[in-house]
Amino acid sequence: MAAIRELRCVIGGCQYAVDEVRYTCPLHGEVGTLDILYDYAALRASLDRDALTAEGPDNCWRYQALLPLASESRTPPLAVGWTPLYESPRIAAALGLERVWVKDDGANPTGSLKDRASALVLARALAEGIKVVSTASTGNAAAALAGLGASLPEIDTVILVPAAAPAAKVAQLLVYGAQVLLVDGSYDDAFELCLAICDEQGWYSRNTGVNPFTTEGKKTVALEIAEQLGWKAPDVLVLSVGDGSIISGVHKGFCDLMRLGWIERMPRLIGVQAEGSAVLAEAFEAGLAPQAISRRPVATIADSIASELPRDRAKALRAVETSGGAFVKVSDAAILAAIPKFAQLSGVFAEPAAAAAFAGLQLAVQSKMIRADESVCLLSTGNGLKDIARARESVGGGLPVAPDIAAVRQALESAGLL
Ligand SMILES: *Cc1c(COP(=O)(O)O)cnc(C)c1O
Ligand SMILES: [Zn+2]
Repeated sequence: MAAIRELRCVIGGCQYAVDEVRYTCPLHGEVGTLDILYDYAALRASLDRDALTAEGPDNCWRYQALLPLASESRTPPLAVGWTPLYESPRIAAALGLERVWVKDDGANPTGSLKDRASALVLARALAEGIKVVSTASTGNAAAALAGLGASLPEIDTVILVPAAAPAAKVAQLLVYGAQVLLVDGSYDDAFELCLAICDEQGWYSRNTGVNPFTTEGKKTVALEIAEQLGWKAPDVLVLSVGDGSIISGVHKGFCDLMRLGWIERMPRLIGVQAEGSAVLAEAFEAGLAPQAISRRPVATIADSIASELPRDRAKALRAVETSGGAFVKVSDAAILAAIPKFAQLSGVFAEPAAAAAFAGLQLAVQSKMIRADESVCLLSTGNGLKDIARARESVGGGLPVAPDIAAVRQALESAGLL
């Protein structure tokens, strides 16, 4: 376990002991999200990255020594993390790049990167004897909490999702047996309600950004990418951004590795937003401080990155700025087209929000944000089976045939295949 030295507010640098504050900075309110910081000198002296590589389990707990979790702590038994990193020469060739890797986090137990945050939050809940954990979600954080919660008999989960969430995501929650509230409103409405009910009932809030352990869970994806590349960071990492929590976690992971001296440089982080939900991209362009960002309506087919008031806005803006990165905005049409293109070039089937990262990579290359000789990692955050309706909409084809061989032959001929 990494002993927590302090929780530090992203807005004012306010410092707290771990038992002094649970969620955000009391002085700066909800925008004052907290960094969990360790005694890096002590970790540096006591840890050996090569031993960790050789002995660690094939899941995110291989980094327990860099996580705020005692070594005897129980963790959810499902295999979260250590997802595959594929080199993709076809994407590289299609985009005119030398080397491209795809990190497939859709391969997590409930199908998205959100499992990483839910796993750590649930492990903390177990350690503290907490019985009820709750979150609002566009769907994936909820599925992650519900699924991993189902693997732990002593924990109940309560989920608030927009009633309009994709059917597969809602089905997943119900199948896992979470208490599900279908909110007749947006994700942000569900979020505000969840904070209020957690406060009122004393439930543990897993809500993204607000709970600082979500960042620590998500950072494990960066640790894995670095390790899978032989303890090196790629030059550029491209990923989609809604609330900004994943990009914050990725940044924290690479920051921790830099502080330990395990990698030599920080990759540039390119955050991809949907044009219709681009609060962070636009704040970045305008040089707006996180405190000056206010909630506004958004609309995109990529439900996982629809966020009216990005909850991790302070950490996300800092991640892009201090890594020398950028934001790009992609249209819904480009996101839809990216689903089959990404799948056909890599074999990885991504939900709209994850395919958005591929659309963003194309745009970043076209607009010369990325040079041909730079190595690029594309983070695929969620499985394509999460939203079959959009997937089906993104492709035509399929030949209807009568059940006889002559009809099959004829159909193949008409398609020019015979
Ligand atoms: C949550 C999510 C994102 C965006 O992450 P944020 O932390 O909200 O920025 C992207 N893709 C998928 C599949 C997600 O579930
Ligand atoms: Zn503060």
